[in-house]
Amino acid sequence: MAGELSICAACGASTPPGPECLACGGSPRLFGRFTLSQRLGTDSHGIVFGGRDDDGVAVRVRVAEPADDAQRAAWAAAAEAWQAQAAAGIAPPLAAGATADGRFARVEEAVDGQPVRRSVGVTPMLAVLERLLDILSTLHEQGVTHGGIGPDSLCRRADGVLILTDFAPAGGTAPDDLRAVARLARVLARDALPPSITALLARMESPDPAARPTAPQAREAVHHARSRPATSPALHLPPPPAAGGGLRRIVLLALLVAVAAGYFIWQRRAHPDAWVGTLAGRVARTEGNPPVRAGECTVYIDAVRQDRKNCRIEIACGGTRIYGGGEYGLNRCAGYPPRAEDVEGSAQDGDPRLELYADRGLARVWDQRYEKWIVEIALDVPVEEE
Ligand SMILES: [Zn+2]
Repeated sequence: MAGELSICAACGASTPPGPECLACGGSPRLFGRFTLSQRLGTDSHGIVFGGRDDDGVAVRVRVAEPADDAQRAAWAAAAEAWQAQAAAGIAPPLAAGATADGRFARVEEAVDGQPVRRSVGVTPMLAVLERLLDILSTLHEQGVTHGGIGPDSLCRRADGVLILTDFAPAGGTAPDDLRAVARLARVLARDALPPSITALLARMESPDPAARPTAPQAREAVHHARSRPATSPALHLPPPPAAGGGLRRIVLLALLVAVAAGYFIWQRRAHPDAWVGTLAGRVARTEGNPPVRAGECTVYIDAVRQDRKNCRIEIACGGTRIYGGGEYGLNRCAGYPPRAEDVEGSAQDGDPRLELYADRGLARVWDQRYEKWIVEIALDVPVEEE
């Protein structure tokens, strides 16, 4: 737009977009390709800018000043791990490095969504908390920390998917991420929390970092608090085969792997026609000799009306269909995001069983003869607002 000013990445002056800053003569673009168009805020983790890259992609930039060369090197190492990670549920990292004036910047794709900072009731707050801890579990497992989690760090896209954004240039530590999550949870909680969650948050805020739970431990505690025994999938599972005295008991595991990027667009929520969409995920765990052991998955759900069934489900992982297709895959779906169970044992081999808990980001497919194989899929989770 004619007359538009950008912020020079080299000196901070306002300057027209172009190859040279009018104030300092340097290139006003960060890393030669990002134009900073507005300053969004400042906090203890640095300055936040909004801008765009040369292709017009909206970006979010965080800039901070390391104390010395050793700290600059540590920030660079943390940023390298951040750029190399493979977690879903976070804003895509685009670039990181030292700026022309000796500061350090991280650039990520801007999330098209709303910050999750409005206080809500217990149920939606716990859903947000569990999802955030899911994302952090994967990040921490990969040696990546956020370093600056706060009320602007979590965005909800239009499709309901939560995205962790606004990573701090300094990185930080995993225990400090846990403490920050607890503080965010207190901000989000409008009502009195269950005692188990109050105790958990207190542990997450312990002055001694070593006394804080890990992200997977905290997620497990939140998941437990959200679960109701009557709907726990673990109760629907047949007993484990007792062979060799060593087969471990089959329990419901919380999601081990955060989810693949993907869209989960439900057109309407109350009506069965809402169950039309594709959910993305990936294989999180297998047992036995499954048709696939790893890979990205798609869970396709369509509304149908046939007998007492109201939805058709097809699941493919790593390019292999493991559930649905042909005469199979008809289910009764309920809720939003939907739940479905196809566990009757009357069909022949070749018609796998299914448990789908899209509300919890879990799908489990297994062979009719349960001991043969299981595939558990971690799904991208739309987390509803209150
Ligand atoms: Zn300048």
